[in-house]
Amino acid sequence: MHKVFGMSLEYELRDGALAWIKNPVTGVISYVVDVRGKSFAFTLGGREELNPDPPPPEPKALHHAIATCPFCPGNENMATAELMRVTLDEFPEWSGAATLPNPPWLIRVFNNLFPRIPENLTGGRNESYIVVEDPRHFVAHPRSVNDLMYTGALSAEHFQHLIATDLKLMRRVMENPAIHSVIIRKNQGRESGASQPHPHQQVIGSPQPLPAIEAEMRAERDHPDMWRELIELCERLGLFIERNGRVVTYASPIGAFPRSYDIVMPEFRGMLTELPPDDLRDFARAIYRILHVVGPLPLDYEIHQAPGLPLHAHINGRLYPYSNVAGTLNLPSQLVHNVAALRKALARF
Ligand SMILES: [Zn+2]
Ligand SMILES: [Zn+2]
Repeated sequence: MHKVFGMSLEYELRDGALAWIKNPVTGVISYVVDVRGKSFAFTLGGREELNPDPPPPEPKALHHAIATCPFCPGNENMATAELMRVTLDEFPEWSGAATLPNPPWLIRVFNNLFPRIPENLTGGRNESYIVVEDPRHFVAHPRSVNDLMYTGALSAEHFQHLIATDLKLMRRVMENPAIHSVIIRKNQGRESGASQPHPHQQVIGSPQPLPAIEAEMRAERDHPDMWRELIELCERLGLFIERNGRVVTYASPIGAFPRSYDIVMPEFRGMLTELPPDDLRDFARAIYRILHVVGPLPLDYEIHQAPGLPLHAHINGRLYPYSNVAGTLNLPSQLVHNVAALRKALARF
């Protein structure tokens, strides 16, 4: 056995390559395997939208999707009462004017019709919110009804406005004395569990840290070096992606999915609302850069924040087969090559 135990992480290297690693938060073990010869035709079936040459979409179908979408401009009355909006006056450089001239708003916030946490547990106020990221439902020249607008197609500046809106909303949520924790969550694409095709985030206020955060806080207490060790290991294994100021990005070998990226501020332990403006910009920029490179592929991300916990976001690519067998995951051995390609793509913008 060639077991290498860090102070906080358990893993094994063979000939300098990772053989397995245990997630100190969940206990799940990722084994590195070569899956190149394996067929995923069954798992990944039914992806007609990936057909490079689909028949042109019916204009009627596109119109119908927009007319019935509760997140599209003109359908505001299909959603709950509006709480905030960002308008073109506040962001005149918005990139969508050619497709959609004079939109009534660029970003819009309202309550989720279906609160994630029942409102009688959050001081009688629904603390689940929808942040619609952009008024556009489809990309500029959709080739099918599945050619939806996605976050990576927004401009970098737009994403900064989006995070600023989250922050404003967070401050409002934190005014509720029943709320002690806030999570920002995004699902992109059907495979990620998104229930609405129109690009949106969810912001959820909770009376106590949500279980995923609570588990991280517990692991942090037991293994205070885990983040630093993980970052060092990623540097050593070729999984480190980039640094933006005090923010580091790496492909996580202990992610929830085979393609997971962490964006971490190892030295900043606290809430987004406490982050100095320069750091906030770097943090948002680091998230955006990964979303931009991943593009329209299905993904999810969560921003995790709690007192004492390094501020971080997890981005999970969801195009890949996921199969947790009795607490084990398989990590593709080509991951290091994929990360090199990702770094190359990032260097271009
Ligand atoms: Zn829509
Ligand atoms: Zn986390």
